[in-house]
Amino acid sequence: LLRRNVKCRCIAEPVEMMQTVYKTKVSRNENMAKLQAGYLFPEIARRREVHMLKYPEAKVISLGIGDTTEPIPEVITSAMAERSYALSTVAGYSGYGAEQGEKNLRAAIAETYYGNLGIQETDIFVSDGAKCDISRLQILFGSNVMMAVQDPSYPAYVDSSVIMGQTGPFQKDVEKYGKIEYMKCTPENGFFPDLSTVSKTDIIFFCSPNNPTGSAATREQLVRLVQFARDNGSIIVYDSAYAMYISDDCPRSIFEIPGAKEVAIEISSFSKYAGFTGVRLGWTVIPKQLVFSDGFPVAKDFNRIVCTTFNGASNIAQAGGLECLSPQGLKAMHEVVGFYKENTDIVVDTFKSLGFKVYGGRNAPYAWVHFPGRSSWDVFEEILEKAHLVTTPGSGFGPAGEGFIRVSAFGHRENVLEASKRLKELYM
Ligand code: PLP
Repeated sequence: LLRRNVKCRCIAEPVEMMQTVYKTKVSRNENMAKLQAGYLFPEIARRREVHMLKYPEAKVISLGIGDTTEPIPEVITSAMAERSYALSTVAGYSGYGAEQGEKNLRAAIAETYYGNLGIQETDIFVSDGAKCDISRLQILFGSNVMMAVQDPSYPAYVDSSVIMGQTGPFQKDVEKYGKIEYMKCTPENGFFPDLSTVSKTDIIFFCSPNNPTGSAATREQLVRLVQFARDNGSIIVYDSAYAMYISDDCPRSIFEIPGAKEVAIEISSFSKYAGFTGVRLGWTVIPKQLVFSDGFPVAKDFNRIVCTTFNGASNIAQAGGLECLSPQGLKAMHEVVGFYKENTDIVVDTFKSLGFKVYGGRNAPYAWVHFPGRSSWDVFEEILEKAHLVTTPGSGFGPAGEGFIRVSAFGHRENVLEASKRLKELYM
């Protein structure tokens, strides 16, 4: 039986309420109390554990969380090893580095990804990953701003906004937080929001290629987005963590759009390019031209936050990042990305051959598969129960994700092929 509107049911609470014998006098942060049912991926991990207890013999394959699986190319790990060994020498030792990142890495990022776009080395802030920078940006904006997000979107934007106190409580009837503008992205609008229906907000989080829909915005669409931000005096936070997966001529950076430097920040990461999800290295670009309403440069405030909350990315990780941007490192990263893109083709072809409508895939390592009229969590459970495959329920990314699942193409080739076989057995 197909059931609609079956919401996420927690199998176990993230932290059991303990029988306490002693309580502090500290009241809980009310914003934390607004957060719903735990973060999406821990919830999936819990369900996977329950499944594995039920079927200890099953070989569960994860196409869920979107973590990289392939080894980091050796040219890159060699550079990290060298830097690591050098730390054991008097000449090669270094302690705290610049909070904003090493000069040569900032220069290499500016040159490689923003070469002709007028972005300078000093506009780049090297970080321990895009997710951490999302929260640092929220600290920068504070609790008095209102933000817009694509619906569906990567959950960290909404959750960090809730934690900062920018939102109202969660409204169960619509599955949305108050005081967040959800920009619906569906097959009907080509996964780009109808900006004529979007209310003015201070901040617009925009991810392209989008996680989870896998859709990349075209140049013409981004021109409209930048114009929309300029008309409203908003700041766009553009997440380009998957830009290297773009196969067509969609822009790789928001700064390809004229006028974007006055209204946009870009966050990005080595995580999905070089398998750095565990190494941790990313960056944020804040052009000097971006200023607050009083004319104060946004980058200056961000610099203050970085210097206060962060002591710089690991020097070993930065050596790896620098090598990523060498000619041989770039070639190796393209091979890693190419491998996952082949996986994506296998996943997309599998679902298409079974008659499903599949979106994304072309410009991102995610297939966004439509199960019209069904609850995402039910589909998730069905695929886990019957094929021992972990996917991600679309509704976990926002209400417009209901009826979809996200299938990640990060996986060893034999696992992706095995997953394809099991899906064909399940849905043929
Ligand atoms: N942004 C998006 C859209 C992502 O999908 C992810 C990770 O999955 C991140 C940011 C986090 O990247 P990082 O590993 O650099 O923190």
